[in-house]
Amino acid sequence: MDFELPESHQALQKMVRDFCEKNVKPHAREWDRSGTFPREVVRQLGELGIMGMQIPEEFGGAGLDTLAVAVVVEEIARYDGSLALTVASHNGLGTSHLRVFGPKHLKDRFLPKLASGEYLGAWGLTEPGSGSDAAGMKTTAVRKGDRWVLNGAKMFITQGSVGDVFVVLAVTTKEKKQKGITAFCLTRGMPGFSQRAIHGKLGMRSSDTAELVMENLEVADDHRIGEVDSGFIDTMKILDKGRITIGALAVGLGRGALEESVRYSRERTAFGQPIGDFQALRWMMADMKTELDAARLLVWRSARLADAGKPYTVEASMAKLFASEAATRACNKAVQFHGGYGYTNEFPVERYLRDAKLCEIGEGTSEIQRTVIAREIYRR
Ligand SMILES: Cc1cc2nc3c(=O)[nH]c(=O)nc-3n(C[C@H](O)[C@H](O)[C@H](O)COP(=O)(O)OP(=O)(O)OC[C@H]3O[C@@H](n4cnc5c(N)ncnc54)[C@H](O)[C@@H]3O)c2cc1C
Repeated sequence: MDFELPESHQALQKMVRDFCEKNVKPHAREWDRSGTFPREVVRQLGELGIMGMQIPEEFGGAGLDTLAVAVVVEEIARYDGSLALTVASHNGLGTSHLRVFGPKHLKDRFLPKLASGEYLGAWGLTEPGSGSDAAGMKTTAVRKGDRWVLNGAKMFITQGSVGDVFVVLAVTTKEKKQKGITAFCLTRGMPGFSQRAIHGKLGMRSSDTAELVMENLEVADDHRIGEVDSGFIDTMKILDKGRITIGALAVGLGRGALEESVRYSRERTAFGQPIGDFQALRWMMADMKTELDAARLLVWRSARLADAGKPYTVEASMAKLFASEAATRACNKAVQFHGGYGYTNEFPVERYLRDAKLCEIGEGTSEIQRTVIAREIYRR
């Protein structure tokens, strides 16, 4: 077992760190405050290959492995959780669904632009009335000759209002329940397709979230992704990988919170000594560091399994569950560490805490991860 990152991944990590120090760190607070989606920075990340990390080189992508994606997302999250969520969801959800299960003509048409960052990808599974119970979706797709007619709505969709290419799931054979769901590729501006940005989120405020509405939206059968009625099974595979990335995002936020706390503990004094000299705070740091390292190892293990072509569903759930809850604990401690200043946006730790909470909810809540893990224990 090798716990060191390969040199190629270390170089990638450094490139992303340098980029974020210069282009993200100085702006993250303002983007969060104003809820600004940093489109230009996302475009620049596209130029660095970060928006097409797992897209094969033949389609203009970087052809990187899952471990690389985890390293990049962790590094960005250290500076800005929202931007990390943009990168994670664009690479891991809609774009991946198209890359893995889409027909060649759609890959030829969209993957190069998604890889360059010219286009943004979004993925619509959750609905106003169903999230954890994803198979309980109400959006329908009814066949009409060589076309399908979609009706319904999707909720909380990342890149929903800024996206260009959307993969959405719809019920095609109601009586077959989760074995009667199909994926379709939609594009911005299609007649009957509208987006409504959602504001007022607790965190991840400079990531774009929207509701998608489909009203008698007609889409050609050649925009179907995967076999008819097999969309839900494909979706579970996409989510498995996505959970590794959300775990990495959580580790990055926790790490950012720890680093800020260390810095602050050296500067702030109380009772005539730096606060970092108090054992109570040192123990807090020790807990943060230990839990975040453990979380990273779980994330890297699941990434390695994915890259080796081995099963990793339960390992990805464990990584996401532990990393997201460890991150929330670490960020909460970081706010405590900063005292009253931690409660203001003068320091980034309150933002990290708000952002970290999303990791316990998005791409399957902690309760759903525990259900997946427990199911596997009994199955084995
Ligand atoms: C910022 C943000 C971005 C998102 N991005 C996307 C996206 O890009 N695409 C997309 O499709 N979705 C996205 N989502 C949706 C997200 O995946 C769902 O919110 C999440 O899966 C939970 O679903 P829900 O909100 O419907 O909650 P519910 O499923 O209604 O859950 C409510 C509560 O009940 C619990 N619960 C439900 N079922 C069970 C059970 N069987 N056992 C125990 N407890 C249970 C849940 O854990 C939770 O605590 C996003 C959400 C947010 C907030």
